[in-house]
Amino acid sequence: MQISDEQLKDIVVQSKLVKLEELEKAFKKAQAQEKDLGDILVEEGLISEEYLTKTIAETLGIDYVDLSNIKASKEILNLIPEEMARVHRIIAFKKEDNILSLAMENPSDFETIDFIRKKTGFNIKPFLASSRDLDKALGYYKADIQKDFAKIIKENIAKSKVAVPEEEPKGIGKVAQDVPVVKIIDTLLEYGVAQDASDIHIEKREDKTKIRFRIDGVLHDIIDLPKEIDEVLVARIKILSRLKIDETRLPQDGRFKFSRGKKDFVSLRVSIIPSFYGEDVVLRILKESQRVLTLNELGLTGKNLDIVKGAMEKPYGMILVTGPTGCGKTTTLYSILNILNTPQVKICTIEDPIEYGVEGIEQTQVKPEIKLTFSNGLRSFLRHDPDIIMVGEIRDTETAEIAIHSALTGHLMLSTLHTNDAVAAIFRFIDLKVQPFLLASTLNIIAAQRLVRKICQNCIESYIPDKKMLESLGIKFDQKIKFYRGKGCPQCNNTGYKGRVGIYEVLNITNTISEIINKGTTLEEVKKQAAKEGMIFMHQDGIDKAKEGITTLEEVMRVTKA
Ligand SMILES: [Zn+2]
Repeated sequence: MQISDEQLKDIVVQSKLVKLEELEKAFKKAQAQEKDLGDILVEEGLISEEYLTKTIAETLGIDYVDLSNIKASKEILNLIPEEMARVHRIIAFKKEDNILSLAMENPSDFETIDFIRKKTGFNIKPFLASSRDLDKALGYYKADIQKDFAKIIKENIAKSKVAVPEEEPKGIGKVAQDVPVVKIIDTLLEYGVAQDASDIHIEKREDKTKIRFRIDGVLHDIIDLPKEIDEVLVARIKILSRLKIDETRLPQDGRFKFSRGKKDFVSLRVSIIPSFYGEDVVLRILKESQRVLTLNELGLTGKNLDIVKGAMEKPYGMILVTGPTGCGKTTTLYSILNILNTPQVKICTIEDPIEYGVEGIEQTQVKPEIKLTFSNGLRSFLRHDPDIIMVGEIRDTETAEIAIHSALTGHLMLSTLHTNDAVAAIFRFIDLKVQPFLLASTLNIIAAQRLVRKICQNCIESYIPDKKMLESLGIKFDQKIKFYRGKGCPQCNNTGYKGRVGIYEVLNITNTISEIINKGTTLEEVKKQAAKEGMIFMHQDGIDKAKEGITTLEEVMRVTKA
């Protein structure tokens, strides 16, 4: 950042936005981690990035621009080529006479300003913009792809038909490397990434190949491709991920990296499964540059947040996150790890797969073929003397035993379990033959979660839901009760939703709960006691978030029905 931590601290103190003790804590953390105080304050959710950026601009006497309020025309945006904009992190957003307004991460970077002035021939007026705004604005370049997507695909299908003669003298592997096929796959990947898809599905049907993207957890039909080219498409993906082209009857898994410019890589995990009409492909898009979210951004707020923070301060014991596949458990663990990750501690993980690479952490990938399982991995890195351990998942007795043992012997243990709610995790352990007295003394907290889609803030509207719906959710109807939904707009592809957030329940293993686990108990008894101690159940957290206009009642119902 361009102002000193001390300067920022003074400004924040005067603003009274952050409690003094929290500010001091953040300041110490910034020094310990050699990070900017501003970044820590944003990471911890104490101030917003917009506030930080605006404050810096004011202090330095530079103009600030809120890019989210400005939609630059294509013509102005393209005055600076995408590559250059990405490298220097700049966006052209206004042009008057001979003056080009430039949003920048670092407006005092005179070298860049000079460079752009010479390149474009305009005088440059620099503005400070937040990095999140810049990231988003850089995505505008991709808007072209969306428009041209269908066209590019159609053109290349026409060409690839010429390239795939009936007799196929070149062999399928060769054709798969021809320009049209390469272009179709590249366009699919580009478009998928631009749309923030988490998965690209290529599905075989009787008479066509369906392309679907999973965006914010929901599958969307994108385009249908003609049947004739499906073999070469799959072959192309097999070549990219170094799989056997001639193997069409067994499932295959692989990985490859897709380059979008010099420094920008996207990793893809490939899964190919034979189906009735051919081979189905799922590409999981793993964004390496993905920022780890703060606990606040994940959806951990209020009391839930306090309990999680409390558990993170304990030097040993277990922090568990539970829920079904795809509910964001791993993301939550990474956010916790990211906060715990300081130079003073050693963190080891064993994961399947490693979803984010984190600097300063020893990460190991499970490899069953060489007998590197969760339990073996855990046992071997106990010898590395870690302070904090994360095991991707506890699903067998052996792993459960070693995990409990590590938590008992002075390690902070983080892991996930596959149960519907927080309390059920206790009984899952008992099923895995863990003694209740060991559980009672090692568990710190159990958080259960689901992901709900967030309402698009661009087209949000309030409404009064009908009585029946509210009653089915256990909410008392009154005339003034208001909930929210998205009307649908271009920014959210007319879905009314944009992005996702977690809804949580966090069971704090207090002394009383620990005691009842120890003496042997039932699910109902634990739930009753937890409710008595003020635990917010997931359903309630969801309804609270719907009341605040973060998500809809429909989403809460969708994800909480068992
Ligand atoms: Zn919208």
